[in-house]
Amino acid sequence: MTSASTLTLTTPLEAVADLAPATRKMLAGEGIRTVGALLEEFPFRHEDRRRMEFKGFAPGPEPVCHHVRVMRGRTARFGRRSGFFEAECEAAQDNPLHQQLTLRWFNMPFMNRTIAVDMELIVYGRIKEVKGRLVMGHPEYEIVRGDGNDDDGVQIHSGRIVPVYRLRGGLKQKALRSAVWKVLEGFDPASAADLLPRPRADGEFAGLSRGKALQEAHFPSGGAELERARRYLALEEFYILQLRVLRRRVLWRAHPGWVQPVHEGQLAQAFIHSLPFSLTGAQQRSLDEIRGDMAAPAPMNRLLHGDVGSGKTVVAFAAMLQAVEAGHQAALMAPTQILAEQHYANACRWLEPLGVRISLTTGDKKITPDALPLFDRGAHASAIQDAGPQILIGTHALLHDAAAMPRLGLAVIDEQHKFGVSQRARLIAAGQAPDVLVLTATPIPRTLALTVYGDLDISTIDERPPQRGGIVTQVRTEKKLAEITKFVRAQLDSGRQAYIVYPLIDESETVEAKAATAGCDEWTRLLASHAVGLMHGRMEGEAKDAAMSRFREGQTRALVSTTVIEVGVDVPNATVMVIYNAERFGLAQLHQLRGRIGRGAHQSHCVLLVPEKDAEAKERLALLEETADGFRIAEEDLRRRGPGDLLGSVQSGQAPLKFAELLGDTRLLTLARKLAERTLAGDPGLSRPDHAGLRTLVLETDAPSATLQ
Ligand code: ADP
Ligand code: MG
Repeated sequence: MTSASTLTLTTPLEAVADLAPATRKMLAGEGIRTVGALLEEFPFRHEDRRRMEFKGFAPGPEPVCHHVRVMRGRTARFGRRSGFFEAECEAAQDNPLHQQLTLRWFNMPFMNRTIAVDMELIVYGRIKEVKGRLVMGHPEYEIVRGDGNDDDGVQIHSGRIVPVYRLRGGLKQKALRSAVWKVLEGFDPASAADLLPRPRADGEFAGLSRGKALQEAHFPSGGAELERARRYLALEEFYILQLRVLRRRVLWRAHPGWVQPVHEGQLAQAFIHSLPFSLTGAQQRSLDEIRGDMAAPAPMNRLLHGDVGSGKTVVAFAAMLQAVEAGHQAALMAPTQILAEQHYANACRWLEPLGVRISLTTGDKKITPDALPLFDRGAHASAIQDAGPQILIGTHALLHDAAAMPRLGLAVIDEQHKFGVSQRARLIAAGQAPDVLVLTATPIPRTLALTVYGDLDISTIDERPPQRGGIVTQVRTEKKLAEITKFVRAQLDSGRQAYIVYPLIDESETVEAKAATAGCDEWTRLLASHAVGLMHGRMEGEAKDAAMSRFREGQTRALVSTTVIEVGVDVPNATVMVIYNAERFGLAQLHQLRGRIGRGAHQSHCVLLVPEKDAEAKERLALLEETADGFRIAEEDLRRRGPGDLLGSVQSGQAPLKFAELLGDTRLLTLARKLAERTLAGDPGLSRPDHAGLRTLVLETDAPSATLQ
């Protein structure tokens, strides 16, 4: 046996006596070469195999654990390969019922060389009743007496809460479990330096250390101890994540920025007064937060987070005007050309009357105002050429055009989830970092906000503009199509407009385009007297734009499309949306899609079409009939589908969480955030000697390619 407590996390597994060489080799094959690496293989579940008081053998669906003595063995062979081995057992404790249990191993007649009469075993498995006998097939077993090794006496695989590991590299459950056991036998928990600050003496983690938590996480002394250890390690995991994002925040704020003070009564103010509505309280609050950041010298890095239609654009425009007032430029970057053009149209409508010079750049071509006949640029065209634009609107291609923005004071990024550290770095011209405002309509549950967007400050618009008609959503099957058509026609008759959406049927855009094209023919027939337009991803950019503007201007009354119309598109007169194959979408996705309606004063209607037989879809989508609360919908999506969808590629390159659960451990995450803030306040560079281990972890894994965006 290993001499007591000499192993540390960095001890190579070669130095662990008693470790089977074959196991060690397989572990090495999986990159597990040290005590620490092995202990960080957290079991994916545990089984409670503590011996309960013996109340008889009973068949049941759950596996049970028993201490038995072998009375008889029986081998049967059928041919050369097949056969079975059976061991007739009785309970090793008092057995007043004189019950018997048969252990049976199919196709393993050679078990007769392992199991002998009079041995005592701990067995674990499911008991079935077979022809009047109680049988446990292929139990996990451990010989506790009678194999000539009695002095050792410790049970690893039974008689306790036992870890179950995810197996890889040819490793067997029992071998891996024994290896961890042996390592823990010689492990000195005090040698594992704590990463977390010392827990409070009266708190949940009192008395726990990293070393002890690792021990308990594998072979816990009880159920409560196991959960406490898992939570400790989850907290540690979140803490490192938080140190990483907070440090990124500190680094950004350390760049020299622009001071862009609020000028009362000037441009921004004039703009807000010119609007046909007043800002909601949530818009005003968000704007105040943004203005405060912009006035300060440290560069802003803020997320403006609000459901579709909550009015983020107006807030962003007001912020851009503040940059213009300070004599700087502001850029607004949208993910697609159509959205960029919509922003441009709004900017022309709202900001040009105030005398602001605006330009639109999409792709690699710069568009002069008169190239877009839709908007009357007139006199401003020459002004832009003379003095240069104050507000630049474009797609994300603008990022590559830093030269055109020598005095970029504010960069607004619309509807973009993947705007990360490296993109942000591109915005820094001549060493000076602009204020950055990211707009997103993705409802982000708090846990995700703190991890994925943890390095951003967050403003939330949690209130909808008033006097909206609201959206009534209904889940229907195609059997109801006649009624639905009648309803759509009635809406169009009364002057409204409609979206008919055909989503991605398979991975091919071509197939999807076909479905939409066929759909367009059908709806042209169904809606007879109304003009129907078509838009899909296979169309040229210009044709797409033209289809969109015809719809925006009311020349077409219904627009049949694939999902190419972006979430942010704003046609207030559109009040109906019919979505085919709604069952193929996540809840949050559908919520965003329907956000294109409900933007005007009239009541809007969204119809989600699902197949007749799909009961699951009907049940799942019912939530959308019930609520318009984007947060609730996102939480439900997260619960049903896991964080993958929301995190998407955002998390690629980031190791998955080992101990923590994004949904269940919100409180731990908040605590981790606080602890990380405190740590960095005292030691911003993590340069204190006792932070050496932490520093390596936080910096090492924070290569740009592996960042949470
Ligand atoms: P988002 O970008 O958050 O989805 P938008 O900024 O496009 O939302 O706003 C949606 C619609 O609501 C626009 O037509 C906008 O003019 C209008 N709007 C914005 N703020 C208000 C408000 N406070 N009151 C009434 N309407 C508003
Ligand atoms: Mg928008």
